[in-house]
Amino acid sequence: MTIVKNNKIVINANNLTKSFGEIIAVNNISFEIHEGEIVGILGPNGAGKTTTLRLLTGVFKLEGNAKVEIYGLDLSKNLTKCKSKFGIVPEVSNAYSDYTVEQNLIFSGRIYGLSKEVIQARSEELLKRFELTGKRKSRTKTLSKGLKQRLNLCLALLHDPPILILDEPTSGLDPFSVKILRDQILKLKRENKTILMSTHDMIEAQTICDRILIMNRGKIIADEHPDTLRKDFNPSLTISFKIEGEISKDLMNEMQNYFTNIKIQEDDSFKITTQDVLEDLHRLYNFVRQRNLEVLDMKLKETSLEEVFINLVKSDLNGEVTKK
Ligand code: ATP
Repeated sequence: MTIVKNNKIVINANNLTKSFGEIIAVNNISFEIHEGEIVGILGPNGAGKTTTLRLLTGVFKLEGNAKVEIYGLDLSKNLTKCKSKFGIVPEVSNAYSDYTVEQNLIFSGRIYGLSKEVIQARSEELLKRFELTGKRKSRTKTLSKGLKQRLNLCLALLHDPPILILDEPTSGLDPFSVKILRDQILKLKRENKTILMSTHDMIEAQTICDRILIMNRGKIIADEHPDTLRKDFNPSLTISFKIEGEISKDLMNEMQNYFTNIKIQEDDSFKITTQDVLEDLHRLYNFVRQRNLEVLDMKLKETSLEEVFINLVKSDLNGEVTKK
């Protein structure tokens, strides 16, 4: 588990709302982001993740009584100053495809008003860091998706912003590129950057995020550390196993009477959901010993974040979740 060291609020968002005609993309949500955190926004397609990021970064104007403060500064009144605090990797890259990697860096640096010397020094450092030095003269359109995304990170970091906003940064990348990006995101956190990212990737959320905001239908339906989310939502474990040989109907019935919480899976394995793992293991041991059965492939499994996510979204659709 990653410990968040400080409680300084860098983003304070209140009553964010955004509609597109009939569609309420973001529905009156409020949250805070603390310095040095990696916060993941998870949610199904159309949940409102990208719109939330766009509201925070001034792409969309705030509506009604919405208010965003970046390091205590009102975003609506200090747009340029607030925007300079962000490094943004949007869903669709803003690198020019006909420019070389180097030209894109120079162009971005000029937009941020950096001097030639600073652009050169920062570019060198970032190209090295993202293993792109050999690609500096390559046209952006010739880069693979993974290399392009690394360039997008370089462009976002050129002006050394304290906050990074990443919209699905690893989506569609191969495992090698994903690893480079995740390692770099963790390294940036160690350098005290604050990172807010949307993702569909549960493993990513579980392994690198300090906090997860789950969105559905424009609302935040959970805001927790990934481990807390798993434990609070469903503290049970599952014991899965196979029984060697044919399983008769009688044995099936016996098992179902003995373990009320047992299910047979598609691959003919059994799954016992348990609140008391030692007790159920003990009962299983007695059951198989008494009948001379052989147990294969036994595994203990905690609830995954993916299961929590699916259950939370389902409960929300059924109106069973209290929203923020
Ligand atoms: P995904 O995971 O698919 O990227 P998301 O959670 O980022 O989805 P948003 O892109 O924020 O969701 O979209 C939220 C809702 O707002 C969706 O119903 C989407 O169709 C709608 N929407 C977003 N942008 C616009 C736009 N520019 N014009 C009209 N509707 C929009």
